Amino acid sequence: MFADRILSGMRPTGKLHLGHYHGVIKNWVQLQSEHECLFMVADWHALTTNYDDVAVIEQSLWDMVIDWLAAGVDPAQATIFIQSKVPEHAELHLALSMVCPLGWLERVPTYKDQIEKLSHKDLTTYGFLGYPLLQAADILVYKANQVPVGEDQVPHIELTREMARRFNHLYGREPGFEEKALAAVKKLGGKKGKLYTELKTRFQQEGDEAAVEAAHALLQDAQNLSIGDRERLFAFLENKGRVILPEPDALLTAASRMPGLDGNKMSKSYGNTIALREAPESVAKKVRAMPTDPARVRRTDAGDPAKCPVWQLHQVYSDEPTREWVVKGCTSAGIGCLDCKQPVIDGVLREQQPMFERAQKYLDDPTLVKAIVADGCERARKIANDTMKDVREAMGLGY
Ligand code: SF4
Repeated sequence: MFADRILSGMRPTGKLHLGHYHGVIKNWVQLQSEHECLFMVADWHALTTNYDDVAVIEQSLWDMVIDWLAAGVDPAQATIFIQSKVPEHAELHLALSMVCPLGWLERVPTYKDQIEKLSHKDLTTYGFLGYPLLQAADILVYKANQVPVGEDQVPHIELTREMARRFNHLYGREPGFEEKALAAVKKLGGKKGKLYTELKTRFQQEGDEAAVEAAHALLQDAQNLSIGDRERLFAFLENKGRVILPEPDALLTAASRMPGLDGNKMSKSYGNTIALREAPESVAKKVRAMPTDPARVRRTDAGDPAKCPVWQLHQVYSDEPTREWVVKGCTSAGIGCLDCKQPVIDGVLREQQPMFERAQKYLDDPTLVKAIVADGCERARKIANDTMKDVREAMGLGY
């Protein structure tokens, strides 16, 4: 069992490219061996901006999952699921919407940014305003305590934390809390129950922090407690309200600025991408067509790698001796630009080779992908359903 639960997701709105691989998926592959990970196909999120072009969502969805698997996401280690197949996300989103002040959503910085950026679309919709709240529900419904995000997404995690706090404050003192907590102490069994009560007294009367730690360890180890009872006993220990929705932390991921074919950040909107599983001949064609230092008009002109987009890709794909060869050859006109591009082509193909190999079995038998996702949805739903039982009960809907 891992101590941390991580949730992350991607919108199915088009083909994945190497920018997604270097910026997100490589990190997932690392995380999945160290933490419990849930990776979500965020199809409802895709609808918040693509509500008028839904065909792209279904087209991209299965391809995206194959890309994840090809890139090394391992269904034996991580749970892969589709957001809309776990309706508890929508239920918690609705529940949270009852108590989320409008101003909290309006002040999320990405709201205005995105409206400006996507000005060709009418995003003055209820769904778009509420998408950070849907994100909060995505995280809280799994009680995920770590969410990998870039700097720009930190305000969304802050909103999630505020929502959890507000919810716990409003509903954490469930009716009959004390009786339920005492019943949970009994469930610990005679010896452990007695120890818990002693530790609770030591903390409440003497402020002994070590007693709290010991009680936490005791509760973590108690196999026969439900999640709800365990949280009641955490709260009872310190005489606080019950934490129904725990606050997550942002797991800051280093910003990856994977360069695209024109030197800008690789992005679909700049049209400068190499797809994750782009055919080798197409990779070669695209790299060979890349612009270079504009001062190198003729083969005999010396160039400056710092002014060349190809050089940025050498930073990702080439080793030190190759980079030295580029600097020397470019600045002395000793190599041509096509010679210089070949190690980049080789590097991209080397990176993609195992991805093609891993993808093949899923392309040969698409039912394998459907089975992985069905299994993931079931696992995700079990966790989400446990949370929703507590949420419904806390909000007076437990009948
Ligand atoms: S030799 Fe390489 S680094 Fe120099 S301009 Fe040509 S492609 Fe760019």
